[in-house]
Amino acid sequence: MTRDDLRALVRTIPDHPKPGILFRDVTTLLLHAEGFAAAIDALAATVPERPDLIAGMEARGFVVATALALRLEAGLLLIRKDGKLPGATIAEDYALEYGTDRLTMHVDACAPGATVLLADDLIATGGTALAAARLVRRAGAVVIGARFLIDLPDLGGAARLQADGIETQSLLAFE
Ligand code: IMP
Repeated sequence: MTRDDLRALVRTIPDHPKPGILFRDVTTLLLHAEGFAAAIDALAATVPERPDLIAGMEARGFVVATALALRLEAGLLLIRKDGKLPGATIAEDYALEYGTDRLTMHVDACAPGATVLLADDLIATGGTALAAARLVRRAGAVVIGARFLIDLPDLGGAARLQADGIETQSLLAFE
C-alpha cells in the first residue's frame, strides 16, 4: 500500500469534538486489515533499534503501541488517564485548550536506564507526548523516540518533541 492509500483510509470528521475542528479519525484505518498491517510495518521500519518498552498513551495510543510492541518484540508500557491504574503511580499534568488533564504511570513500570519509545495515533500540540516523556524520565528511563500514525504539523507538536531531544517520526501529515 502506498502512503496515499493509507492516507485515504483516514476519515476526516468536520466539527468534532467542536465546531471548526477537523478530526482525523484513525478507526477507519484500523478497520482495514491490509492498511493497519502496512501502517504498523512502515512505522516499525523507522525504529533503528529494539527499545525495551513501547509506551502507549490512553486510549488510541494503546492500539499503536501494542501493535508496535509485538512487531518489535518490546514490552508494553501503559500510560493512563488519572485514576485507572491499580498500583502506586506518578502523575504529570498537561495543558488542554481549556483546563488541564493528567497522565499517570505505575511508579515501578520502567527500570532506570530502560529505553522507551512513545507511541500514539496522532500528535497535535505535543502536550500529551511531552507529559508521557516526563513520566518516563522521572522513572530514570530514557525516551529514545516517538512514533505517530498522524502528525498535524501546523500545531507544532513534532517540533516541540524534537526540541526536547525526542526523535520523532509520523507516517502521515495532515494540514
Ligand atoms: P496533543 O496532546 O495536542 O498532541 O494531542 C494529541 C492527543 O489528542 C492524542 O492522544 C490524540 O489521540 C488526540 N487527538 C487530538 N486531535 C486529534 C484528531 O484530530 N484525531 C484523533 N486524535 C486526536
